[in-house]
Formats: sequence, C-alpha cells, structure tokens
Amino acid sequence: MNYISNGFSIGGTVSESDQDWRNEALGTRVRVALWLRDEIGEGGVFSKQRLRAAIQGAEQVDRRMRDLRPAGWDIRTYRDKPSLQPDELCLEKIGQPVWEKEHKAAGLRQISARTRRSVYERDGHMCRRCGVAAAEEYPDDPGSRARLTLGHVSPHKSGSAANAEDLITECARCNETVRHLTGAQMNREQVWDRVKELPLRHKKDLLAWMTGDVRPLSPAEKAWALYRQLPAVVRDEVKSDLRKLLES
Ligand SMILES: [Zn+2]
Repeated sequence: MNYISNGFSIGGTVSESDQDWRNEALGTRVRVALWLRDEIGEGGVFSKQRLRAAIQGAEQVDRRMRDLRPAGWDIRTYRDKPSLQPDELCLEKIGQPVWEKEHKAAGLRQISARTRRSVYERDGHMCRRCGVAAAEEYPDDPGSRARLTLGHVSPHKSGSAANAEDLITECARCNETVRHLTGAQMNREQVWDRVKELPLRHKKDLLAWMTGDVRPLSPAEKAWALYRQLPAVVRDEVKSDLRKLLES
C-alpha cells in the first residue's frame, strides 16, 4: 500500500504500516484508534497524558479521541464510571475499525455550510457555554481572541447527527474542555460554595441553565451579538442613537 504523505515526513524509525499507531502518515483519529486497540484494549484504563505522550506532535489528540465516539467507540470517564479517577478514561468497547478504508469516515458527519451558518445565527455568534462572542477577549486571558466552532448539544451521545438542533455554537476553548474530559476540575464543594453565594434570582437562572445544559441569551445579549456583527462605522451610529434615546 502506498501512502500519500500529506506533507508529513515519515522518519526512518517510524513505522509505515497502515495499522501501526506510530505511523505519522496516518490521520490522528486513526492513530488514536490503533493505539487504543493495541496498547489499551477493551476494558483497559488509561490517562490522557499517556495518550498525548504516545501520539506526540499531533494536534488536538483529545478531540480526535472524542471523534471516535460517534463511530461506536465507548470511552468512559469518571463521570460515567465511578471506579475511575478524574484523570482516567476507560476503553469500554472498541467501535468501528476506522483504520480500514471503508470505515475511515465512520461517525464523521459533514456539517453543511448552510447548517453551520444557521446555527451561528441562531446562537447570535456567541458561545452558548460561556457567552464569549466571536473575536472577543476572554475576561481571564487578556489579549486573547475567541474563535467560534460548533459542538454537539450532548457530546456523550454516540452518533449524534449533524442537524442544527443537535448542534450548538461553542468557543474553541469550551469545545476543547468538554466537561467530562477535563483533567483539572474544581471539586463539588468549591463549585457549591460559589453557587450558594449567588443571590436568589441568579440561583434560579443557574438552575434553568443547568436544566437545559445551556445558557440562553437574554434579549440584550442577542441585540449585542447582532450589533457586534455590524461594521465599526455603523456600530458607532447605533451606539450614539441609543445614547440619544436614553438621554431624551
Ligand atoms: Zn466558550
């Protein structure tokens, strides 16, 4: 079998087998699948650190691992398997053999440009998890610029479709830190302390967000999101119109 190197160099010591996770010419998702099959096996427990150390140099290893779920790979975290430590994962079941040509795209459903656009518009071009808008700075990270992407409403569900109602606008940071795969978690007490301190009205809001697992945009936030999409000159006009309206 011949490889198309896609610009990646295949070093002398690197295997060129199409079923070896060390083969850097294979896609990251395929390499992760092979590594899980050969180094971990069904029922095996591993850490993300070990996975990252194995598939070195590849980008977004965690994400590519999550991408195996829609292909029937059952990878559990301590949230769905209480015997695990917070930094441990368990390969419960090997799914479709994505290393085989005919299964390579298994579970990877393409989202159409139209769907993508309509989800961004519906969500007001803001991350529905943390509220950051496209190109806005994260409050805790001066100089940063948020990049928006699409995530699944329920990332746990395997085989979730690529329809607008299954998708949600997320910033890259929230998307990457999908709750159940984060290593550094606050503990229950730390979070609960913050929750308890909130005024009643905010407690009620929070419960509604928790129930829907999403933070809906208020009318002001929706207007803000739309405003931010206007060209700078027009934004200034709208700003001064609003100021005049409030002063009158
Ligand atoms: Zn976010």
